Amino acid sequence: MTKIAIIRCEKNEDRCPLTGCFTCLVGNKQGFARYEDASVPGGVFTCRCPGDNVVGFAKILKSKGVDAIHFVTCTFAAKKEGKWDDAQGGFCEDIDAIIEKVHRETGMSCVKGSAHLPENYTPRVWEKQA
Ligand code: SF4
Ligand code: SF4
Repeated sequence: MTKIAIIRCEKNEDRCPLTGCFTCLVGNKQGFARYEDASVPGGVFTCRCPGDNVVGFAKILKSKGVDAIHFVTCTFAAKKEGKWDDAQGGFCEDIDAIIEKVHRETGMSCVKGSAHLPENYTPRVWEKQA
């Protein structure tokens, strides 16, 4: 089993209860399709601007045995005319830098993407470091 956590964005916390993210996580779909074994939820934390809280969250998740952290799709994509599109970005201009910092400081596997991926988008993965 792969234990997976999700980092969501505070800008969407009172509008989306992560329905799509959880559905894809437990079904190994969209951003979670890379896992061949069953995925189990390892927890959720909410990033707050400017994102300084996320490394601390990642360290907690690591201590709880989480294998990978997924950063939600709405941080870098938005819905346009019924389709999710990453051309204009999403809620966060700094999501790549935030993910890179988490990866650098924890060595954990990090994935940019969760539910409803934009067409032609392949989730960017920062692989686990020993
Ligand atoms: S990626 Fe979609 S389902 Fe997940 S938190 Fe953002 S809007 Fe909600
Ligand atoms: S830093 Fe980015 S991901 Fe974090 S709350 Fe702000 S906009 Fe959202």
